[in-house]
Amino acid sequence: MTGHPRCLIIEDEPEIARLIRISLTLEQWQVEMAPDGNLGLVRAANWRPDLVILDLGLPGLDGMEVLGQLRAWSQVPLIVLTARTAESVKIQALDAGADDYLTKPFSVAEFMARIRSVMRRLHRDPTGQETAFATAEWRVDLEHRRVWVRGAEVHLTPIEYRLLCVLIHERGKVMTHRQLLTAVWGPHHARANHYVRIYMAQLRKKIEVDPGAPRYLLTESGVGYRLAEPDPLPLERSTVPPG
Ligand code: CA
Repeated sequence: MTGHPRCLIIEDEPEIARLIRISLTLEQWQVEMAPDGNLGLVRAANWRPDLVILDLGLPGLDGMEVLGQLRAWSQVPLIVLTARTAESVKIQALDAGADDYLTKPFSVAEFMARIRSVMRRLHRDPTGQETAFATAEWRVDLEHRRVWVRGAEVHLTPIEYRLLCVLIHERGKVMTHRQLLTAVWGPHHARANHYVRIYMAQLRKKIEVDPGAPRYLLTESGVGYRLAEPDPLPLERSTVPPG
């Protein structure tokens, strides 16, 4: 990436597109807009953005269709916007290769935090060879497979440890049940959702102060799980209207 990073906004609602554009411009992004899916695909191909914001509810070519076509040739970081609250739509978008999603209405502060999170993941060591990961309360020695929680070493089973490592590697990103199952248990277990719930509960008991109100291993209701970034999301400020 040279100069200012480029963001393509594929969104048919002018007010939302404008608000997003202003927020991004303030943080030194170059912004291009596309009011429908076909134009969005053309601009993505010609302008080569560093980030795509894609509304799912678009006239003509549906956002999910745009996502599918784009992912056939591009791995550009992509955040989906949706007014659709159905969990199945979010899961479908994440499994189809969206890096994150925001449900309208959302706050601009949260929107910008998600973008920073996606871009941070992108700039991490692509080989994934981190040697340690630490939060204020626990840390993992990834070289020696050892875990300490509030100063005391804890034992994780191999599955618990793999699950934690996947979440650490993808921290900040919501992972669907299917993605976690495939990464931890392998592609043949992609439908055994209860595995994830059981092991996540065990992991929370070992790592969280209050497993019933986790600070790190967060549930994305009906969609999957997300390991909180070390810096929490800022408080709600201005809010983008539904639409
Ligand atoms: Ca729309």
